[in-house]
Amino acid sequence: MNTDIQSILNKLGVKAINAAFSTGSVWGGELNSERLESFSPVDGKLIAATKVASASDYDHVIAKAQAAFTEWRTIPAPKRGDIVRQFGDALRENKDALGTLVSYEMGKSLQEGFGEVQEMIDICDFAVGLSRQLYGLTMHSERPNHRMYEQWHPLGIVGIISAFNFPVAVWAWNTALALVCGNVCIWKPSEKTPLTAIACQHIIATVFKANDVAEGVCNLILGDRTVGELMTNDSRVALISATGSTRMGKAVGAAVGARLGKSLLELGGNNAIIISEHADLDMSLIGAVFGAVGTAGQRCTSTRRLIIHENVYDAFTAKLVKAYGQLGIGDPLDQNNHVGPLIDQDAVAAYLDSIEKCKAEGGNFVVEGGVLSGDEYSSGCYVKPCIAEVKNEFAIVQHETFAPILYLIKYKTLEEAIALQNGVPQGLSSAIMTLNLREAEHFLSVKGSDCGIANVNIGTSGAEIGGAFGGEKETGGGRESGSDAWRAYMRRQTNTINYSNTLPLAQGIKFDL
Ligand code: NAD
Repeated sequence: MNTDIQSILNKLGVKAINAAFSTGSVWGGELNSERLESFSPVDGKLIAATKVASASDYDHVIAKAQAAFTEWRTIPAPKRGDIVRQFGDALRENKDALGTLVSYEMGKSLQEGFGEVQEMIDICDFAVGLSRQLYGLTMHSERPNHRMYEQWHPLGIVGIISAFNFPVAVWAWNTALALVCGNVCIWKPSEKTPLTAIACQHIIATVFKANDVAEGVCNLILGDRTVGELMTNDSRVALISATGSTRMGKAVGAAVGARLGKSLLELGGNNAIIISEHADLDMSLIGAVFGAVGTAGQRCTSTRRLIIHENVYDAFTAKLVKAYGQLGIGDPLDQNNHVGPLIDQDAVAAYLDSIEKCKAEGGNFVVEGGVLSGDEYSSGCYVKPCIAEVKNEFAIVQHETFAPILYLIKYKTLEEAIALQNGVPQGLSSAIMTLNLREAEHFLSVKGSDCGIANVNIGTSGAEIGGAFGGEKETGGGRESGSDAWRAYMRRQTNTINYSNTLPLAQGIKFDL
């Protein structure tokens, strides 16, 4: 790799790496706590080591956050928005460096690394506008000379638990909205990508410092699920916004539910594109291949299944096979490559295991998989994107494998295709490729896709921040990012004000003394 990662780390302020938490620009942590090492899946090298937060580190961070909330919530929302605007500007200045670090630490292509930082910038812009909105309704009271309205208040501490595959954007989606809503945040990033998190914390802390914002408004704690569990079991954390696997979501949902806290869950997907006989096949090919191999199949919205009409099945499969033969696999920082590495050796093992399971159930591989070897692939994390003809009911097809394995399923009628598309436990993203208006509208109707995202002539991955993002069923039901997703970060209060000189009761109830 030609990029000088050390100078990028220096530029991004990733210096305080021997620490387990940050409460702003202040870093700390128990000295004897465990090391958390970050290896690059690009070349297998140790980039740097950090520390894991202990329970007492965690309590320290909570205390700082609680104190900061008392001040932050009183700052007018548009002023909070202005600070988020400055954060967006700081991200613009650091886009190249942060995007490159995302690519090197996580393994996605450089273009996707830059795209991830752009998504952070976009959500900041969105949040700035939102800071002058956060609308409540007013309604007419049934009682004379009374006024009724709803207003929205911040929740307090928002705990953000994020996954490795979008190591920075998901944090920004949550943080930009939570901040303009008046909350303070504690972020536990994936233990696989601590350095990009440290870089983000440094960027936002610098902006806060320039604005004299109290220490403790945005906090970072490093560690694995044990640290996440401290947050999910803690009633001082009003909202847990957790992104990750369905397995994790079930544990988090149960822990937060047991204390009647609020949770926002963004979990796994098993996304399909229906390729109709009325599809533009060349356009569909780009959507399908990008969806299946982009980020090496490690997006929650990655295309896992193609449901193809029998009349175009052979022709489209031939196009796919040809396109897969042209994919460049290798260093994601080299812009000639289409596919980078998986995140680690565990992910490679899960990929190989899924291929075996698929074969055991009768899957027919039209493009074979396998692990790549040689100098360029020295991390051992590079695998070949593969394609298998399957049945939707195979156990392995019902399961989200976070790797570039694409399943092909043939259909005859649109109703059958939609039943196949919906016939999995997950409900994140879905798409139909068709130039037929009736088919497209049917797919979007109440009889169509059951997913949180349903697209026409666009693949399953690559959402914009303006819409609410999330999915149904085992994807967790949460909505983040645009539209009215901000409401999840606030509590609603209904206010009734009597400005008459009597005290009439609702529903006409008489109570005279
Ligand atoms: P993961 O579930 O292994 O870990 C995600 C995060 O949860 C990590 O920070 C981890 O430390 C933490 N965690 C794990 N168990 C926990 C527990 N019991 N209590 C508290 N915290 C816990 O997921 P991953 O491998 O990092 O990411 C891949 C998964 O994330 C895929 O399933 C993908 O579909 C999903 N994902 C979903 C979305 C979405 O918006 N729907 C976005 C990105 C990723």
